[in-house]
Amino acid sequence: MSSEHTLYIVATPIGNRDDLSVRAMQVLQQVDRIYAEDTRHSLPLLRHHGIESRLWPLHEHNEEARTAAVIEHLSGGSSAALITDAGTPLISDPGFKLVRACQRAGIHVSPVPGPCAVTAALCISGLPTDRFQFVGFPPSRSAARQVWLQPLAQLSHTLVIYETPHRIVESLFDLAQVFGPERPMTLARELTKRFETVIHGHVGDVLAAVQADSNQQRGEFVLVVAGLPMAAAAAADVQITVELDRTLAVLLPHLPVKTAARCAAELCSITKKQAYDRALKLQGR
Ligand code: SAM
Repeated sequence: MSSEHTLYIVATPIGNRDDLSVRAMQVLQQVDRIYAEDTRHSLPLLRHHGIESRLWPLHEHNEEARTAAVIEHLSGGSSAALITDAGTPLISDPGFKLVRACQRAGIHVSPVPGPCAVTAALCISGLPTDRFQFVGFPPSRSAARQVWLQPLAQLSHTLVIYETPHRIVESLFDLAQVFGPERPMTLARELTKRFETVIHGHVGDVLAAVQADSNQQRGEFVLVVAGLPMAAAAAADVQITVELDRTLAVLLPHLPVKTAARCAAELCSITKKQAYDRALKLQGR
């Protein structure tokens, strides 16, 4: 392996330290520098695996400022690895700006794949995995969260959502409000750790189980939510089209088509393109 001029994006465990791959260990041993989201957090993992630490901090607050220095270091023929506190960097974690800047600077970026809470939760969810969407963390306030959830509730594929212990009950509550308590889901908590818990059920049951036991409100969570069954998705499409047509019928006589479509898109929680295409169709264009 020639590691010169290379930035390795290295996945680290999401709980169980022994989930660090053999190749991840080799790369972390060999590189000149390891950029870590929180050096104090990563040190015990590296020590556990006997990896000599050459840690430099790189987190969301200094990523932009540090990028030029990292590129200079790599351009000089050195190698580096990027790790975060847990799992795969860039997945709801720092690294995107650095990777993009490296690519633009012609520096080779190479993955060392491994643990990721998205795939860990999805593969044990018992929900369809042929099509899924990862949407990261929901907004922290309930009103914004409900607006954010609304278009997601119409999708026919599986959704993967991250959540923190502070908001797990409120988020499940909003999920029940927007998706309905009958939507099938799996709650994956503390995966690969001592208190790993997986609850399969409907949103309403999962909410009740978590509300009833404060231990279930601790730790790290992934919510895997079933998409609308195809028939229901189709019914929702019809309903949205009816709502969109009604909205456009009011707006189009008074506004330019682009403005009417933009307003309708916002009112019906759909994309501007969908609304614009429909507006043109209604106008017979
Ligand atoms: N980059 C990480 C990855 O690849 O999964 C995710 C980092 S993000 C800042 C942290 C979130 O990931 C947590 O709030 C939780 O939603 C999820 N997560 C991480 N580890 C987990 C675990 N062991 N069990 C369940 N969820 C976990």
